[in-house]
Amino acid sequence: MNRSYLEDASGFQGHAEKVFAPADEAGVAEVLRQASATGKPVTVAGAGTGVTGARVALGGWVLSLERLNRLEVHPGLARAEAAVTLSELHRAAGQSGQFYPPDPTEAAASLGGTIATNASGSRSFRYGDTRKHVLRLRVVLADGRVLDLPRGEPVDFEVPAIPAPATTKQTAGYHLRPGMDWVDLFIGSEGTLGVITHAELRLLPAPGALLAGVVFFRGDRAAVAAVEDWRANARARMLEYFDRPSLALLRGRFPEVPEQAGAAVLFEQELSAEDDPEVERWAERLETAGALVEDSWFATSARDRERFRKFRHALPEAVNDTVRRNGFLKMGSDYAVPPARNLEMLEYYRRRLEQEFAGRYVIFGHIADAHVHVNILPASQEEFARAQALMVEFARQAVALGGTVSAEHGLGKRKAHLLAIQYTPEHLEAMKQVKRRLDPQWLLGRGTLWPAE
Ligand SMILES: Cc1cc2nc3c(=O)[nH]c(=O)nc-3n(C[C@H](O)[C@H](O)[C@H](O)COP(=O)(O)OP(=O)(O)OC[C@H]3O[C@@H](n4cnc5c(N)ncnc54)[C@H](O)[C@@H]3O)c2cc1C
Repeated sequence: MNRSYLEDASGFQGHAEKVFAPADEAGVAEVLRQASATGKPVTVAGAGTGVTGARVALGGWVLSLERLNRLEVHPGLARAEAAVTLSELHRAAGQSGQFYPPDPTEAAASLGGTIATNASGSRSFRYGDTRKHVLRLRVVLADGRVLDLPRGEPVDFEVPAIPAPATTKQTAGYHLRPGMDWVDLFIGSEGTLGVITHAELRLLPAPGALLAGVVFFRGDRAAVAAVEDWRANARARMLEYFDRPSLALLRGRFPEVPEQAGAAVLFEQELSAEDDPEVERWAERLETAGALVEDSWFATSARDRERFRKFRHALPEAVNDTVRRNGFLKMGSDYAVPPARNLEMLEYYRRRLEQEFAGRYVIFGHIADAHVHVNILPASQEEFARAQALMVEFARQAVALGGTVSAEHGLGKRKAHLLAIQYTPEHLEAMKQVKRRLDPQWLLGRGTLWPAE
């Protein structure tokens, strides 16, 4: 069996008896009917860019959607099968003068995977998470029944109110709200409630022009203060943060990162035209913020913006490569806090990481959403165990500040233990009741979110 079905981007590995890759939705339903008749656990595999072990089977069958790859683009919407990748959708939408706002930086992800994790990424600050852009889903249930679900069709059972964190993004556990629709239930359910075969997704008109910049700062304090100001006063669609250790790691691949830079912020601003007064306003903002303006990089062309995107994406890639080369699994956080608690959380991370892992960690990511990723680069088993404990401590702190234990990656198998930090036993029981209702044999995504019943 091809090993790529049995691992994900975090390095987590599993095992399975068989892989099925049906050609269409009817084939997906047939595999699920057989599984249900014989009691076989089924793990749904998208493109494998997830970082929580969710798509990695621990026994049973793998159901890969790789052959469901048809895509149609229309004014205002795209109709896509589950395996269409984000980069395919971005390209096709661009050719019709439109764009799909969610931009989890890993464009090799499948749309089915991004819906199943409620992915968000760098543009969610302006446009929100995947949930906000899904208009319709087709889903196959564990017993092979097919549901066609337009937005607004309510679920046919009582749903309790589970308090949501006051964060701008969240994807920990099931999204349960009284009066909710089916579409919201399946988004973010990590392949544990049903198999998404098709989606209808909202597209927006592409902006007239874009200004982008990688703005370098001498130190962290100025960079973070600039973000706090820009979050409130600029209409950027992206504000992404890189701390000093992140820049040090990136210099291996991008030696042009200025030597005196101790932090950076990547921004993107939509413009009505290239002479939009916003360009001038950004020049003023950068001066006021004390940025290293002469050394920073700016772009209005698509080619240069693509270079910046690669620069941003190279960081998690370098982190994942480094950790795996050292023989460990990725050890990264995905916690978000309410924007007003951003500085407090950052200071907490920095203080504890300097105490325990000085020189072996990075902090980067979606700072405008108060959602940065901490990644620890352990060098021994003892450090790996200590890093795991520190990640749990950080999860508790994020929740104490009103935050979430997963903003965009989901929890999968590797982080399922964090769910109980955010929710009470009653909330968890309400989620499990939904699982029992839709998948009474507990076959789908066994080990993801919940230990098997
Ligand atoms: C370098 C790097 C950077 C990343 N940056 C971001 C980021 O900025 N923001 C972000 O949100 N994520 C990010 N990710 C995480 C990842 O890209 C997302 O989790 C992605 O949404 C997973 O899609 P996939 O197709 O690879 O799914 P997989 O990894 O194959 O599966 C993920 C989960 O979705 C389920 N699933 C997949 N397809 C379906 C389906 N059709 N129906 C039901 N369930 C399904 C699987 O069972 C599993 O639970 C990053 C990953 C990497 C490697």
